Amino acid sequence: MRRTKIICTIGPNTQDYKSLLRLAELGMNVVRLNMSHGDHIWHSQVIKAIKSINSKGKYSLSILMDTKGPEVRTGDLKHQLILKKGDIFNFTISRQAKYQQNTVEVNYDGFIDDIKIDDIILIDGGMISFRVKNKTKNDAVCECLDGGTLTSRRHLNIRGKSARLPTITKKDWEDIKFGIKEGFDFIALSFVKNRATIEEVKTYLKKQKAPIDVIAKIESAQSIPYIDEIIESSDGVMVARGDLGAELPIEEVPLIQEEIVSQCLASGKPVIVATHLLESMIENPTPTRAEVTDIFLAVRQKADAIMLSGETAVGLYPYKAVSVMSTVAERIEKRVFEDKEINIAVTSDPKTEVARSASILANNLNSAAILVFTRRGYMGTLVSKCRPNSSIYAFTNMTSVRRRLNLYWGVASFRVKFSNNPEHTIQRAVEVLKNKHLFKKNDQVVIVSDILAGKEYVETVQIRRIN
Ligand code: PEP
Repeated sequence: MRRTKIICTIGPNTQDYKSLLRLAELGMNVVRLNMSHGDHIWHSQVIKAIKSINSKGKYSLSILMDTKGPEVRTGDLKHQLILKKGDIFNFTISRQAKYQQNTVEVNYDGFIDDIKIDDIILIDGGMISFRVKNKTKNDAVCECLDGGTLTSRRHLNIRGKSARLPTITKKDWEDIKFGIKEGFDFIALSFVKNRATIEEVKTYLKKQKAPIDVIAKIESAQSIPYIDEIIESSDGVMVARGDLGAELPIEEVPLIQEEIVSQCLASGKPVIVATHLLESMIENPTPTRAEVTDIFLAVRQKADAIMLSGETAVGLYPYKAVSVMSTVAERIEKRVFEDKEINIAVTSDPKTEVARSASILANNLNSAAILVFTRRGYMGTLVSKCRPNSSIYAFTNMTSVRRRLNLYWGVASFRVKFSNNPEHTIQRAVEVLKNKHLFKKNDQVVIVSDILAGKEYVETVQIRRIN
């Protein structure tokens, strides 16, 4: 069983039931819906198809909303513009400057205040770039550094700077309300800068009694000094390398990725490595060798999930992309997960120590699996945090918990009815695994479950053989 989870972004090429089912069969664990594209009607139709797949019982795909956030974009153009190195080009916040040959609007009124002479402006993460030569009240006069074709509404970043816009826009709030109504499992907040935004959304979700986890997308230059408090206050983190590599010098991205993954592992927060993992497969049926090595790095570091964006949303080879990602991840896991050490810091938290004990036992005894019984999912996440070598089979009585656990490293989740007698629940779980042929006769497993001791439930770790 592959431990590293796969997130697929859904778009026009993969929006229907058949395509989504095929992605699930090939290894998709989490579905990402990007609110920068599509309207609520379109998203509802995709969600309906996902729920229909989940209702059959075999898959428990979780659904992640990615908010649009305060994106800075260029305006509409009458015709695409071919820009060459050395061309002088204007970015304007004036709303009167429609369709001039050497000018494009910017949708952010604070743009001119934010830039300085010599700042670097990047279009689409650096596909076209400019240096600011001069600025007036409304315009930034720039020299083109790397030319290209400018089309309408392109993504714009100023290197080293984050737009001073509210992190959650009016549209984002409407999307969050839609997410609650539709029963999303995760909301990934774009351009998070500090803990305040995460807490604001979490408080709102709690008030609405919505069991949705909040993922902080790290993509803004301003978020880096606040990374500790962002990880602490969020339910998970996405290293959004697209915008991150535009706001910060590109050479910083792998270092930041490694640091964030390592901090998330230490704090038990799920971490997603996103963007460009198989970018060339948008157009080609086979990846570059460097992309395969990029997957290797994320898998070796034991990130919880790796994400496909355009590859599955608009690419020519969405199924091949998932299949390559899954095969590469599984192969790497086989080779690199031989270490028997459990590398989490010692704590005084009994539940964490129970999870650690179970993981040590499973590693030392080469157990076939760890079975963890987890009503709200917490114990399942703790065992995942330990990154044991054996499979983690998590049993819960709630479908929403089952879906949410799908993002966590190594966890295969199942739903069983919990009995007042924990032993009955264990037997039900064993039946589920036997029916799915996940055990061989006489396999030894480690079980993390509570038992009834007098009137109290107490946590236990057991070693058993399953016949
Ligand atoms: C990114 O910038 O890497 C990212 C995941 O965000 P988006 O796809 O919304 O630009």
